[in-house]
Amino acid sequence: NVGPRASAEQLQDPDHLIDYTETFIFDCDGVIWKGDKLIDGVPETLDMLRSKGKRLVFVTNNSTKSRKQYGKKFETLGLDVKEEEIFASSFAAAAYLQSIDFPKDKKVYVVGEEGIQKELELAGFQYVGGPEDGEKKIELKPGFLMEHDENVGAVVVGFDRYFNYYKIQYATLCIRENPGCLFIATNRDAVTHLTDAQEWAGGGSMVGAVRGSTQREPLVVGKPSTFMMDYLAKKFSISKSQICMVGDRLDTDILFGQNGGCKTLLVLSGVTSLSMLQNPENDIQPDFYTNKISDFLSLKAP
Ligand code: PLP
Ligand code: CA
Repeated sequence: NVGPRASAEQLQDPDHLIDYTETFIFDCDGVIWKGDKLIDGVPETLDMLRSKGKRLVFVTNNSTKSRKQYGKKFETLGLDVKEEEIFASSFAAAAYLQSIDFPKDKKVYVVGEEGIQKELELAGFQYVGGPEDGEKKIELKPGFLMEHDENVGAVVVGFDRYFNYYKIQYATLCIRENPGCLFIATNRDAVTHLTDAQEWAGGGSMVGAVRGSTQREPLVVGKPSTFMMDYLAKKFSISKSQICMVGDRLDTDILFGQNGGCKTLLVLSGVTSLSMLQNPENDIQPDFYTNKISDFLSLKAP
């Protein structure tokens, strides 16, 4: 019984789900942590799953860090997670370029933060742009023509707190004028939760600006696109029907699991409330839902 359901079932027998799952893919923000704070019961839950021999994989749409930087974050939070178990959308952008044999003598223009730069570097790609271009201003004088590097063969756009008009124009010139230039988006999250006081414009807002000026659709490598799922399934030789995708967001995590043909579990410890799940206008229904992942421990039959 894989695939979307008419309506989600409240998780009552986690042991059954655990027994029939070989790999758990955990979304990070809203499932493992909230911002910089660990969610209650996570270490014990991960330990229990590992003791049962389950493979654990962590996927995040947040492209601001590299997998190495996420490794440090897990460590700081007291979680024993290896870099190789972490798949951020920054890594996905570099992995995608590798998968298509993107030429090493071409460059990537980065609209995004350090995570993307570090992953491109590790994969051996040359890049220009990044946070440094956030300082650049355009002085419009009559006849002013902005130069761009004709050797840029791909533009990667992700969440960028240093976003400005210079970057939009540079990315636009590359995509419109360099023959065959790729337009890659790490993710398209509309909003994100930088603080718990309000929602903040997410990576989708930067991607939207470049879509607007180029009239081109990006290739998305983060959730809910199937790229990372296919990558993981191949890398670990896992059958997608043996995967359970655990996430807090319907239009990224749950859709990601469903697009991949996996089982899906929504946790209510992040951005989705029970009333949002049950809203008649919501057409994304996970297989199961529960409050938080540590329910795997507490819901055990006596
Ligand atoms: N993008 C940004 C910039 C974020 O800050 C976050 C969450 O903190 C996300 C995306 C979503 O991350 P995740 O996929 O781990 O929920
Ligand atoms: Ca999340």
